[in-house]
Amino acid sequence: MSDATICAVATPPGRGGIGVIRLSGPATASLIEAMVGALPSPRRASFRRFAGDDGAAIDEGLVLWFPGPQSFTGEDVAELHGHGGPVVMDRLLQRLLALGAELAAPGEFSHRAYLNGRIDLTRAEAIADLIEAGSESAARAAVRSLQGEFARTVERLVQRLTDLRVHLEAGIDFADEPLEGLALDGVLERIEAIAADVAETRQAAGRGQQLQEGLTVVIAGRPNAGKSSLLNALAGRDAAIVTALAGTTRDVLDTYLHIDGLPLRVLDTAGLRQGGDVVEQEGVRRARQAMQQADRILLVEDDAAAGTDPGVADPQTDLPSAVPVTTVINKIDLSGRSAGVADDGLAVSALTGEGMAALREHLRASLGEDDSEAVFIARRRHLQSLDAAAAGVDEALEAARAGAGEELIAESLGQAQQSLGEITGAVTTEDLLGRIFSTFCIGK
Ligand code: GDP
Ligand code: ZN
Repeated sequence: MSDATICAVATPPGRGGIGVIRLSGPATASLIEAMVGALPSPRRASFRRFAGDDGAAIDEGLVLWFPGPQSFTGEDVAELHGHGGPVVMDRLLQRLLALGAELAAPGEFSHRAYLNGRIDLTRAEAIADLIEAGSESAARAAVRSLQGEFARTVERLVQRLTDLRVHLEAGIDFADEPLEGLALDGVLERIEAIAADVAETRQAAGRGQQLQEGLTVVIAGRPNAGKSSLLNALAGRDAAIVTALAGTTRDVLDTYLHIDGLPLRVLDTAGLRQGGDVVEQEGVRRARQAMQQADRILLVEDDAAAGTDPGVADPQTDLPSAVPVTTVINKIDLSGRSAGVADDGLAVSALTGEGMAALREHLRASLGEDDSEAVFIARRRHLQSLDAAAAGVDEALEAARAGAGEELIAESLGQAQQSLGEITGAVTTEDLLGRIFSTFCIGK
């Protein structure tokens, strides 16, 4: 438990019908008493006036009192629901600070809830992810994580790993001979089953992470085809540098944008041109790398310059085969072609905006909503932990297949278990916690 009693405005800045101030910590009861009089009944809304230091009312509204440990943070918690104006909220906050409360750090309420065992890390993160969800699917996935589905799936895997380790270690302690024949067969099958389930969880989490952070779209094509212009047209602002000089975008530029709530990470790549100077070649190398990791490639072609690019590599030969490609036929304002879906791609003009609505619609349809019930909202750190767990299980599998001793197998399984423990916070470091909670906003 922390000694400090923290407070923060939990509602967004600006003006609204209601503004909520949240408090948590040991002095909550006395702070509330100082401002609203006698403590209200727990978990019931009571209408009170909120007094300033001179006894005059700063505001009036509802007060909610949640005695610990049955509260969000596990500590004594209270909420003051006043009128949502910046001056009122600030005066209430100043009054609480004068009474000895401290301003909460970003994510401090959730951090305390985690430290007091009220929520595991996946749930704490899901709170932030739900608030930040950029699409309906992301919000649905965040609620599933918030309700503990991700944590339960991970905990079940941890339990199976533990059981198997116990089984193997019992073999180490009690058997004279290493496990052989039937016994080892059983172990192999159990490791295989766990490996399959770790892989399945990784897939669901990977999809969840894409929902949260956005799918990656790479814009590729010859220099001057209009890649940067297309990005700007998609983003609706001058996100990338556009010039008439071939080879201007030498690096890979990241832009995050939303198309009707669908979050996308769009990369503008250097033109795929052979030769060039060292910087340009590096750009081409990065472009190829970005394309390999993309969820979709937009291949931009200059309709006005079709077939008139001597000395320029054919971008088609550089496309990774596993990634779906949409050909965008650009500069139709010059070529005179009509906008929209054509046999050879989607015809647009990044300059005039013709056909851009159809392109947005196409991206939305091809990358959009996923109603799969198995998706958990997930973060990069979850994926890293799941990958590490998968590596541990694979190692155990190899060891078992090679007839290695139980000890070696158990050790690899232990590593997998450790990695999974990082997801829910069963295994953590201060550093990890600091990184997670500092990204939250104040009042969470
Ligand atoms: P990149 O090298 O592929 O990124 O191409 P840019 O976006 O930098 O564009 C190269 C040139 O083509 C610039 O002069 C743009 O203004 C021009 N351009 C891009 N899109 C269009 C378009 O749809 N119509 C016309 N007329 N010009 C375009
Ligand atoms: Zn460019």
